[in-house]
Amino acid sequence: MKTQERTSGIMLAQRWMDEQRKQGRSEEEMMRTMFVYEDAVMEIITDEHGEMQIEAQKPEQLVIFRSPEERKDPGHICRCCTMEHDNEKEAMQCCAFIDD
Ligand SMILES: [Zn+2]
Repeated sequence: MKTQERTSGIMLAQRWMDEQRKQGRSEEEMMRTMFVYEDAVMEIITDEHGEMQIEAQKPEQLVIFRSPEERKDPGHICRCCTMEHDNEKEAMQCCAFIDD
């Protein structure tokens, strides 16, 4: 796996955590959340200091099944962090800066 992919994946996961916090979601609710970014898997864990961390997991094999329902029009959702936006332009710009 390229380092670049892992970095971006963790950045996206952190961004997701920040957004969830802003929306008032508690750390308990976010705990054990797993993220899949391309072939990288990450999980929210707490370290020995009780701080939330995003840890890269390395499954031997990862198979993702997606049901056809998920492919219905998702609204104006950012493909990276799944944040909902008022319009498609905002959704496209949401995580766009991470790509460069
Ligand atoms: Zn986004």
